[in-house]
Formats: sequence, C-alpha cells, structure tokens
Amino acid sequence: MGKIIPVFIPHAGCPHQCVFCNQRTISGQKDSGINAARAQIEKYAAWTKLSAENELAFYGGSFTALPFAFQEELLELAGKYRTKGLIGKIRVSTRPDYINRTALALLKQYGVKTVELGAQSLDDRVLAKAERGHTGTQVTEAVELLKAEGFIVGLQFMVGLPGQDWDSLRDTLKQAIALKPAIARIYPLLVVQGTALAESYAEGKYRPLTLDEAVEQTFYLYQGLTENGIKVIRMGLQPDAELCEEGNILAGPFHPSFGELVKSYGYKIAIKKQIDALPSGKYEMTIVHPAKLASIIRGMHKANLKFWEAEGKVKVKFAEGDKFNIIIICHTDKNTI
Ligand code: SF4
Repeated sequence: MGKIIPVFIPHAGCPHQCVFCNQRTISGQKDSGINAARAQIEKYAAWTKLSAENELAFYGGSFTALPFAFQEELLELAGKYRTKGLIGKIRVSTRPDYINRTALALLKQYGVKTVELGAQSLDDRVLAKAERGHTGTQVTEAVELLKAEGFIVGLQFMVGLPGQDWDSLRDTLKQAIALKPAIARIYPLLVVQGTALAESYAEGKYRPLTLDEAVEQTFYLYQGLTENGIKVIRMGLQPDAELCEEGNILAGPFHPSFGELVKSYGYKIAIKKQIDALPSGKYEMTIVHPAKLASIIRGMHKANLKFWEAEGKVKVKFAEGDKFNIIIICHTDKNTI
C-alpha cells in the first residue's frame, strides 16, 4: 500500500476564517509558500520508498481557491516528484464553494485523482454558526460535479459544532449517505488557541463535547457511513507535536487514539446488545477475535470488559481466532448458545 505524503498549505486560499480553525497549530506548519511545500516533500522523500502507489496530498488550505498561478506552481512541483517516481497520485483538499469546471480542468490537467471537501455539516444553520461561508447545497453541487468529472470524492465531517444537535447530525448523515462520497473523515471539534471558538469558549458561550459524547456521535456517523459503503479513513486529529504542545488545545474531546476509542465503543454496544438478548441466567462468554483487534475489543484499560461484566450476567473470556471473524460463544452449566 502506498503512503500519503502530506503537504500543508495552512489557510492558503481560504476566503473565510472558520470559527474553529487554526491550521498553523493543527498542522504544525506555519508557511504556505512554494519553498515550504518543497521542504515538506523533501523531508518525506528522504525516507519514503519510490512507489506509484504513493500519493502527494495538499492539505490545510483551500486548494482550488488559491490564485490559479499558485495552484499551477504547486501542481508542477508535485508533477516533478511524480516524474522522479516518488509518487504516482496527487490529491487536494478544498472548499465546496470553490469547485467549478475551470478549477477541475486544471486539476485534471495535472492528474489529480482525489478531491477532499471540507463539508463539516450539511445543516445550513450549523454551517452559518461555524462561519464556513457555504451552504449544504453547495456541498451537494460540488460532489455531483466532481463525480461527473470522474474524481474520487472525500468529505470531511465534524461533531460538536456550535448549534449541532442529534437531529442535525442525523440529517447530515442521511444527506451524506445520499451523496455517497468514496471516503470520509470525521473530526471531533476541539477548542484550539487563536480561534474565534476559543473566545466563545472563554465567554462561556460554547460547550465542547465530552470525550464520551464525541465518541458516541462519531460512531454514529462512522457506522452509518461504513454500512453504506463509504470508507472512513480517519477519525480524530493526528496527535502531532505542535498540536499537543501545552496551551494549544484549550478544551474539547482530544484523545491521541480517538479512532480506536470509536471502534472500541462500537464493539462495546454491539456485544452488550447480545448480552441483553440472552435469557436471564449466568453465562460464560468467549469472544474469539482476530489478534489485531485484541485491545480494541477489550477497550481502553479493559473498559468494555468491565462494562459487559458489570451486571454479573456474563463472565467474559477472549481467544484469538482467524484474521477476519469475531465469534461469540456463550455457555451455561448445561448449554452452549
Ligand atoms: S476549516 Fe478549511 S476553509 Fe476553514 S479556515 Fe480552516 S482550512 Fe480554511
């Protein structure tokens, strides 16, 4: 499998300052010029094996909102590394309101295959509160145009946005499923220093999600998207050194292994449903699972195991099975269920 070589162009091209965003802190990259882009690629080039499967990805800004000449300059740069064999593919992330035929013609000319759009929500009320500067309809139109032009489409979503409740989340999921992007990312909203959200938080006007709430809401999106064939490629921000530096995250549901917590929560509730469905009695339950899922199934600090055993109905054991299947076997003194 190829590697993603991320090139951050923090806030480059952004016509709006979204209330939650400070890309310089989130990405750890301060400069968005061509030399900074080259330096980032060179850093990866030093230890990345040449492969046509590697993909260079321009993140952290609004690529198609950049001046045309600068887009060309960045794509030329990427093209040079493709010629050298370091990468075979290019992807960009951008805003839905800067997707049009002219922008896509340039991306096609340079062989860009994947476009990721920051959607965050498909609820206009929530988008307005986040000062995104675009509507849900613009996301829909952008996705349709990208698909019609043959691009692989990714959508980024957030949980915990100001004004976002369960109804809003449910509606966003419904619309996202109908749009059927190929890939998605889900981020819990954090209060990062230097943002408008940080001010609202300090004034007591914004309450971030707790970690449990963020995990539950992210799992809701993750489950709905994956069940409908949309691959979720990331949940939670990359815990890089700059982001984790003291004073950068002021509040919010940050966890360095957020994605694992979400998947673990999924097993927690799925297996609890099976326990609840057992006739009353006491059982010994054996969960046979692929080795790589051992810690996710047990939960962080065995939290899932403790949760399942809390009511005293089951005593849980684990065993390693094949690479793919999870099998649950329940015994009473007399029967296997
Ligand atoms: S969220 Fe995206 S569009 Fe908004 S300021 Fe950050 S990089 Fe720019």
